[in-house]
Amino acid sequence: MHEASVTEALVKLALEEALSRDALRVTAIGLVVGETTGYMGESLEFYFRNFSKGTILEGASLNIAYVKPKIKCPNCSLVFERKKFTFECPACGTPGEMTGIGNEFYIDTMDIETGER
Ligand SMILES: [Zn+2]
Repeated sequence: MHEASVTEALVKLALEEALSRDALRVTAIGLVVGETTGYMGESLEFYFRNFSKGTILEGASLNIAYVKPKIKCPNCSLVFERKKFTFECPACGTPGEMTGIGNEFYIDTMDIETGER
């Protein structure tokens, strides 16, 4: 399962970020996941629970925002959402090319608690 390794890396990154901001606890993490990655929310959640155990990330809620893959038409430059079983441009019918949209995997937001009130 590649969710395991990406989630481990994610937890490491979130920890570094949280500690650099003097966080005592992380309450929520907003994650952006492109659907092209194929990562399953349930798996990410599962591994997150595992890897965050015993850290200041433990118990944080994981809010996943999925990004639909987008395709770009090489003919008319239209960027469109991929439909099942076809790559054809809805405007001119030319087969589109994959873009980086839909490949995302990063932390967008992080809610932290610090000692200051
Ligand atoms: Zn087109």
